[in-house]
Amino acid sequence: MTANHDKALVLLSGGQDSTTCLYWAIDRFGRDCVAAISFDYGQRHRIELECAAAIAAHAGVTHVCLPIDTFASLGGDALTDRDVDVCCDVDEQTGLPNTFVPGRNLIFLTFAAAYAYQREIGHLVVGVSQTDYSGYPDCRSQTIESLQETIRLGMESRVQIHAPLIHISKKETVELARDLGALDTMAVTHTCYNGTRPPCGECPACLLRAKGFAEAGIEDPLITTS
Ligand code: ZN
Repeated sequence: MTANHDKALVLLSGGQDSTTCLYWAIDRFGRDCVAAISFDYGQRHRIELECAAAIAAHAGVTHVCLPIDTFASLGGDALTDRDVDVCCDVDEQTGLPNTFVPGRNLIFLTFAAAYAYQREIGHLVVGVSQTDYSGYPDCRSQTIESLQETIRLGMESRVQIHAPLIHISKKETVELARDLGALDTMAVTHTCYNGTRPPCGECPACLLRAKGFAEAGIEDPLITTS
């Protein structure tokens, strides 16, 4: 199948980074050529999915949420397993924090590619970043490039995976959001690992977000409006 090289599908988690990517895609491809996709993977905080829908509505793009209820059954990570607390501790063997959900981005991108294939969408946009992050191996550019190659081979397609934030810092992501006119929409995003609104301000995700806004010298609309 020949993909339409003018259409893009954005993986929208409900957070700050994927929201910035949504506006990046709108800027690059045009609002009418952009759609958003989210995954219900059994995340503890349902608020993420509510935020994703609100963000898409705010940005004026179509949005679909696909159910994948397998991750919670795998267990052991703090984002899907209610028995595991979110903390900054890293696993001694892997060096990864317990907020790492093994395989998540690989599965999301593969499902998104299949969804895009069926609709002749040629571009996927994902908000992963290997800068300022917790060392998640599925946020590395090498992983994304390799997966793009695998999907191209496995689906006989020319799909292109864009990761506009991959090499930029949280501060630069905030500046990019400002430049793309995405700041207003930041008020309806969700980042906190503890799932609270207003955000807890203490978890690793809240601290990283606050640091990015502080370094960019911009007030976080989520904090000022909640
Ligand atoms: Zn928090």
